[in-house]
Amino acid sequence: MSDRMIPMAFEPLLLTVMKEMREKQSVFYVPAVRPKSAPLAFCGGVMENPVGPAAGPHTQLANNLVAAYAAGARIFELKTVQIIDGEDLPVDKPCIYVQGEAYNVEWSTELTVAQAAEEYIKAWLLIKVLAKEFDLGSPEGFQFHMSVGYDLPGLQSPKIDGFIETMKDASRSPVWAESLAILKKHLDLFRVVDEAYLDAIPSALCNTVTLSTLHGCPVDQIQAMITHMLREKGLHTFVKCNPTLVGYETARKVLDEKGYDYLSFGPEGFEHDLKLDYAVKMLTEMTQLARSLGLTMGVKLTNTFPVAIRNRELPGQTMYLSGKPLFLLSIRTAKLLSDAFDGALPISFSGGIDAHNVAQVLSAGIAPVTLATLLLKQGGYKNLTRLAGLAPETIPEQVDCRLLDRLIEQVAEDSYYQKEKPGRTVLRPLTDLACYQCRNCVDVCPNRANLPLTELKKAVHVDDLCNECGNCACFCPFGYTPYRDKFTLFSSEATMADSANQGFRLTDTGFVARVGEREITQLEELPEQLREVVRTFLN
Ligand code: SF4
Ligand code: SF4
Repeated sequence: MSDRMIPMAFEPLLLTVMKEMREKQSVFYVPAVRPKSAPLAFCGGVMENPVGPAAGPHTQLANNLVAAYAAGARIFELKTVQIIDGEDLPVDKPCIYVQGEAYNVEWSTELTVAQAAEEYIKAWLLIKVLAKEFDLGSPEGFQFHMSVGYDLPGLQSPKIDGFIETMKDASRSPVWAESLAILKKHLDLFRVVDEAYLDAIPSALCNTVTLSTLHGCPVDQIQAMITHMLREKGLHTFVKCNPTLVGYETARKVLDEKGYDYLSFGPEGFEHDLKLDYAVKMLTEMTQLARSLGLTMGVKLTNTFPVAIRNRELPGQTMYLSGKPLFLLSIRTAKLLSDAFDGALPISFSGGIDAHNVAQVLSAGIAPVTLATLLLKQGGYKNLTRLAGLAPETIPEQVDCRLLDRLIEQVAEDSYYQKEKPGRTVLRPLTDLACYQCRNCVDVCPNRANLPLTELKKAVHVDDLCNECGNCACFCPFGYTPYRDKFTLFSSEATMADSANQGFRLTDTGFVARVGEREITQLEELPEQLREVVRTFLN
């Protein structure tokens, strides 16, 4: 079993999505909806709804982006790219741990930068087609925002500069032409989309960038990085700030008061980070520069918050906190910066957004909002539908500092933000390799790597799509490790040989399954619970 994902080629991706939409009105098992209209004018365009996935596990593969669109997302913060990529970027696995709040030890894309660009192009084209064909929304009603890090030389390197230029105009990318050709070859799949529509799809995927400034980003390069993006690249620019702007004492007090006193961090990280005075001075100069260039400059609040690993929750020494406790810090960071700019600094927000706070945050003029932690929890991508439904119809054009003050006062009193008690896990022996008892592992997988066979009430694991992030294991009420324990569909002899999972692959003449120590090629030799599962794939 490899911890590297194998992206789907565009043709099978298209055929899979179109078949599922026609038969079940869903995309990768996420029901497709037309979200509530809560339009937000943003960086020269309009998004139909200001809610979507944050740069993270839900914006890495084309599958994830298309599933998020189906759920109602209209802003997509693409997973961060940096100069170190692919096999050169070691990511310890598992890399996600959710226990009320969430932690991760991964940051930028696990794909190569070239593969990442391909995934984003494939998703862009597929969403444009789905929007039109199934009337899910205006084909112009969503936005992709790229995210890049982590220092100036990296941004200026041919690899990252090439990525940025491709996102600005993908028409010269081979995958653009290949994917369009595949769409035209399959025009028979469509009732509404035609060749003229495909030819008119704009090749400019992004006009907005988020600068990621965590993971060793030198503080003294941030201003130069912003300047580069504005002046040289002509992009609307949002700089991601750290919650350390609130200061060590405040962070410690706020978290302790809500029961997060076990989170281990010291004042050192705060001392090395951007300080509020410097941040305000820099942002003032940068917003003036942006204005002079006819561009938007704002902040993205916030990065995740580094804490020490004390109980082997994840491998390594430091993990990055998100969810409710991050909200406590991020919303205060928003207040500090809004006060300094009288509400005029645009703030895009992603620090523990959920159904409890999304309407208040948007109503205060903080928009758009992107999220990851809630999408990792029960319901998975379907939580986007819920949040999009809660967006207010009008969002103030700038931050309303009084509303933000009130929100912070409410949060301080609100028991919702108190540390949650961990859920109970009842350990049980796994009796069904294709277990579908609670469906959690299907829903919470960011990569859609646990495939439900709803009619059979079974689910199988899809080896190619799994990166062993570990999230499904956090939500199995019976203590299974779904990505290892479930019956697994392999795409090749090599990937099957590379794994210890029990599972099967299809062959020209049938299938080969591994069950226990046995290799099985005949349906009748399979345990009864797996026979219909394999038969489904043979049909
Ligand atoms: S199957 Fe589990 S481990 Fe694999 S990608 Fe999905 S959630 Fe992560
Ligand atoms: S999360 Fe666990 S119990 Fe629920 S369907 Fe998956 S393997 Fe079965």
